Amino acid sequence: MPSLKGSTTARSTLLGIYAPPRELFVRGEGSWLIDSEGTRFLDFTAGIAVNALGHGAPVVRDAIHEALETGLIHTSNLFRTAPAEALAAELVGFTFPGQVFFCNSGAEAGEAAFKFARRWTGGGERTGVVAFRGSFHGRLFGTLAATDRPAYREPFEPLMPGVRWAEVGDIESVRAAVDRGTTAAVVLEPVQGEGGIRPVPADFLRELRALCTEREVALIFDEIQCGLGRTGDLFAFEAAGVTPDLLVLAKPLGGGLPMGAVVLARHVAAAMRPGDHGTTFGGGPLVAHVARAVLRTVAAPSFLAGVREKAEHLDHALDGIVQEGIGATAFRGRGLMKGLVVDRPASDVVAAAREERLLLCSAGADVIRLLPPLNVSEAEIDDAADRIRRALERSA
Ligand SMILES: *Cc1c(COP(=O)(O)O)cnc(C)c1O
Repeated sequence: MPSLKGSTTARSTLLGIYAPPRELFVRGEGSWLIDSEGTRFLDFTAGIAVNALGHGAPVVRDAIHEALETGLIHTSNLFRTAPAEALAAELVGFTFPGQVFFCNSGAEAGEAAFKFARRWTGGGERTGVVAFRGSFHGRLFGTLAATDRPAYREPFEPLMPGVRWAEVGDIESVRAAVDRGTTAAVVLEPVQGEGGIRPVPADFLRELRALCTEREVALIFDEIQCGLGRTGDLFAFEAAGVTPDLLVLAKPLGGGLPMGAVVLARHVAAAMRPGDHGTTFGGGPLVAHVARAVLRTVAAPSFLAGVREKAEHLDHALDGIVQEGIGATAFRGRGLMKGLVVDRPASDVVAAAREERLLLCSAGADVIRLLPPLNVSEAEIDDAADRIRRALERSA
């Protein structure tokens, strides 16, 4: 059996594009990660909003075991398997009438959505995408082009051409950017994640919906980070009472296994033909069975009510920290997706929090991002708040 314990010398053979701290994690239990020395870390990254049910979740573990019983991990999309069909039907039931495409990551789902939008608008000159300041949609050539991070984009240009920029909350800027002759899609995160945890006002989502309908442009909501229960609603767009033409999902969907999905509204799906797009692994029976278990769990009204209760508890704790005037100046976000604005580099606070055995990530230069598992306990939230206080003292 290959060892799961790891070796520090093997580290240098992993491509050096990430900069992880030195701890080597060997176990996970709920909201906790345990390193090779037995030290327990409170994990408020949840694998960047992936581990919605925490580490070692029985729902995920049981679903993996059930799926393995069939002996089917992968068949390819040359053939039908039941889990993908069942999952697609459930996703449509929870969103809007249409069809679902499965893939293996967020960026892949975003790229697919751009292709689908072009197909629906009829191709030709209509290939452009309107994206927003503060956005993040992935690191591939199309999604990166629509990501407002010049430092990520510029070394790899030329990317997908035809991206125009608009400002969240400013419908006139969208009106100016959307061109009936050349725009295929408008893409937006209903709560911007990497860009600093910025909820988009519901009014603006409604204005966008109306504009896209009027100009016959595809409206894409990227709920890769904010979807599937994170905001306390199953999907963040629900609060606005509108639906997109294309909904892009990934992060928590596969319970930690790689999975992305695009839900296409019926009219967009109707424009697609066999052979228009494809992926070898997408929607395989193992991952689809696990995703169905995750979806059913997070979609349960009692589970979502629990997320809202915990979110209120977290808001209260963060408000307390801000009131204390110890280096945090504000907080924002929805549900269990929160950004705490700090008066120093966020990376310093993230590093200090790790010294306090609390795992966090940042969202921009001065925002620390809190993404606990959706089943985090109130005691763990209080514990995290204390560790944040100590991290602020430590990094002062
Ligand atoms: C993480 C993320 C992506 C990219 O997903 P990957 O699986 O890393 O490709 C796209 N959009 C949003 C909003 C994200 O948070």
